[in-house]
Amino acid sequence: MLELTVEQISMGQSAVDKSAALHLLAERLVSDGLVADGYLAGLQAREAQGSTFLGQGIAIPHGTPETRELVHATGVRLLQFPEGVDWGDGQIVYLAIGIAARSDEHLRLLQLLTRALGETDLAEALRRASSAEALLKLLQGAPQELALDAQMIGLGVPAEDFDELVWRAARLLTRAECVGSGFAGVLQQVDPLPLGEGLWWLHSEQAVRQPGLAFVTPQQALRHNGQPVHGLFCLASLGAAHQALLERLCTLLIEGRGQELCRATNSRTVLEVLGGELPADWPSARIGLANAHGLHARPAKELAQLAKHFDGEIRLRLIDSGQPAVSAKSLSKLLSLGARRGQILEIIAEPAIANDALPALLAAIEAGLGEEVEALAPVVEAVIDVMAEPELVAPAAGALIQGVAAAPGIACGPAHIQVQREFDYPLRGESLPIERQRLQHALANVNHEIEALTQRSPAKAIREIFITHQEMLADPDLTDEVDQRLRQGESAAAAWMAVIDAAARQQEALHDALLAERAADLRDIGRRVLAQLCGEADVPAPEQPYVLVMEEVGPSDVARLDPQRVAGILTARGGATAHSAIVARALGIPAVVGAGDAVLLIAPGTPLLLDGQRGRLAVAPAAEELERALAERDRREQRLHAAKARRLEPAITRDGHAIEVFANIGESAGIEAVVDQGAEGVGLLRTELIFMAHQQAPDEAVQEAEYRRVLDGLDGRPLVVRTLDVGGDKPLPYWPIAKEENPFLGVRGIRLTLQRPHVMESQLRALLRAAGDRPLRIMFPMVGQLEEWRQARAMVERLREEIAVSDLQLGIMIEVPSAALLAPVLAQEVDFFSIGTNDLTQYTLAIDRGHPSLSAQADGLHPAVLQLIDITVRAAHAHGKWVGVCGELAADPQAVALLLGLGVDELSVAARSIAEVKAEVRELNFEHAQQLARQALLQGSAGAVRALVETR
Ligand code: PEP
Ligand code: MG
Repeated sequence: MLELTVEQISMGQSAVDKSAALHLLAERLVSDGLVADGYLAGLQAREAQGSTFLGQGIAIPHGTPETRELVHATGVRLLQFPEGVDWGDGQIVYLAIGIAARSDEHLRLLQLLTRALGETDLAEALRRASSAEALLKLLQGAPQELALDAQMIGLGVPAEDFDELVWRAARLLTRAECVGSGFAGVLQQVDPLPLGEGLWWLHSEQAVRQPGLAFVTPQQALRHNGQPVHGLFCLASLGAAHQALLERLCTLLIEGRGQELCRATNSRTVLEVLGGELPADWPSARIGLANAHGLHARPAKELAQLAKHFDGEIRLRLIDSGQPAVSAKSLSKLLSLGARRGQILEIIAEPAIANDALPALLAAIEAGLGEEVEALAPVVEAVIDVMAEPELVAPAAGALIQGVAAAPGIACGPAHIQVQREFDYPLRGESLPIERQRLQHALANVNHEIEALTQRSPAKAIREIFITHQEMLADPDLTDEVDQRLRQGESAAAAWMAVIDAAARQQEALHDALLAERAADLRDIGRRVLAQLCGEADVPAPEQPYVLVMEEVGPSDVARLDPQRVAGILTARGGATAHSAIVARALGIPAVVGAGDAVLLIAPGTPLLLDGQRGRLAVAPAAEELERALAERDRREQRLHAAKARRLEPAITRDGHAIEVFANIGESAGIEAVVDQGAEGVGLLRTELIFMAHQQAPDEAVQEAEYRRVLDGLDGRPLVVRTLDVGGDKPLPYWPIAKEENPFLGVRGIRLTLQRPHVMESQLRALLRAAGDRPLRIMFPMVGQLEEWRQARAMVERLREEIAVSDLQLGIMIEVPSAALLAPVLAQEVDFFSIGTNDLTQYTLAIDRGHPSLSAQADGLHPAVLQLIDITVRAAHAHGKWVGVCGELAADPQAVALLLGLGVDELSVAARSIAEVKAEVRELNFEHAQQLARQALLQGSAGAVRALVETR
């Protein structure tokens, strides 16, 4: 997303003409790495199609669709020209904003700028600005629109006196984030102004964040200073935002129409009278916008000019945007809509001109407003039957369900189903006393439930969460607001959910991790109360350890998971590399994921037996089966115990074949503990996780210290480091990357670092410096082409001439099928391969590894993936090179024998899996494993491979 910052601004530039200014801009965009050489031609071509002069001394040069390919990253650069540059037609530009954008991302920037464009003497101020900060302030500090919508209106609110009415109005402004919490106090110091007809006015500028107007009417008759109080306006005043409204209000009072406001029974009437919303009976027409880049400057200008031909009001709004309609005659207002191709515009015109204006504007928009447009596809009205989901049925007793093995171990216990349900409830209540009683009853029940949960929870962190929930239930602010809505006739459920939703949104809007958690808590508690109100209370968790059944488990659910009570996890969605699996492994809870939506229909309390190693679930199993499984669990526990005792010994098969077992890590801290868990080295250091842990890009010295810490901790054991693997779905907050339709197939891994060689060079330097004479292995992620490897190698070799290292190997990750198929060629040049089975599987099977329903099928034991591993190992060994596997597959107990049999030399797994993997190897016979691998290569599916391993 394009945002403005001071770093993007160059002050005091000069250019003799527009062409020279464009040259300067292009140079700046190129040197900052946003675009490639040649973008200048795009800027020039765009100006030739039509000037990018926006108004108020601002121009926004940008490229054409043909030069979009030259954009490396979305961004803007601003040049101030205090002497002005003639942009054609005598239009003088003091600020040129050069935009590098691949699609319509610059619409967002235009939205920002339109606020500034409304300023009367902005051009002059831009010319005179003496610092980048001042200039930025001019662009951002422009007047804000007055907030006035249905949320700001309270009709018939309970108030005992005038002060309480003032307090109610102030609350509406606080809730809309127009004012800080001190505003109500400020208003008490201000003298209210009677406007006549029982209407009153109060305003202040203190504690105001954005301008807004609240209007409240009292439920019961009130008087103040001997005069009646029928309605009160409270203005949070900032600049001149309220001017137009004040003028309308004066006209209204002069016309003697004040009573229309006091008698209004709904907020829509108030808004219409005040002009905040258009009268409902004005004619309107709708049309989809077909312009490829939305309603940007050129088509918006056309539209505004056409609208100006009509002598009357015409407004435009975006359907479903929640934004109010804007004047179609104002270019800046039209741009502020940020309308994109495919969005529906509604044109609303004053009745006197509607018959002429609406058809004319519709025709102009349909014709493309001066641009060539490709018509939008017709909207499909009917839902196509064949797309309907097949009906699901709950699995019967005795059913065996195959899911994905996510965390090893055997668990049994009653099912505890946690599914987010949809609730139906009436919006209007029966009567105030009935709805009040319903709410109180529901609140008391939930409070009681939480009390019981708190008592039962041994973990302090979990108890604290529940205590917070109880506090929320008792929050007078929340209950007050709900009560206000009940008085207006809403049902308890509708009022409760509206208040919870508004409060949660408020927290979420602050973009603070802690407050976002609070918002999640609010929503959680909100749903519990709603369930009570709808008579569908949550089923309490069973007393004994249970199998938790959910759609997916997100990391935030971890806090609610009590490993003492959750014996196993079963999810309907997700795969072995999904969050649920990672969370479960981290907690050591057996888990099966991606078992299909039918498991959500299992009746609560049904006994379940879950085998996290085989990915299998038995529903209400027979007694003998349960007994067998429990005996196996005991054996497994003993095995684990024994494995742990031998964790520091090497992994050697019965017939003497050794395989190295290394650790995957993502941070430098705790490396000693990793070694203590049996790691013979680090097989994958995910350096992007180190980058992500920093607020800004770690410089060379910071990186060197991080890498040194790992090497020190390894004490002579090898370190395999992967260079930065960001981009695509893993962006770094401080490293803007152009948005992509298909990030997994986009600029990620080596593709990205080769585009930003200075980042890669500084990482490589830090690595070489940290290594000295210790064993360092560097590998590059996502290599798919020989040329990528060669460029990366050349860079290391150049740096090696400056920085001496004595034990360095260079390799690549095999994550893309093209790299595996090219292994016979690559093996001649690399020192090693490390197979990233997570990505290799997703690219081979064409299944997004994070896909909510498909990722369960992304099984690395698919014979197609095994074939690619086989090709890689054969190629490497033919040239005397070694091969590791560092994807999740390396820790999959059913995969170890096969990877060993295929000839893999090293397995790199999460530290807590090392002992178990080593123990597994010790039980194998290399020759048998080779035979098994050869058979696996001949199978037709991952399921068949797993079955083969089972029966070995
Ligand atoms: C992989 O793709 O297997 C891998 C190890 O890399 P990551 O999971 O970090 O993409
Ligand atoms: Mg990967």
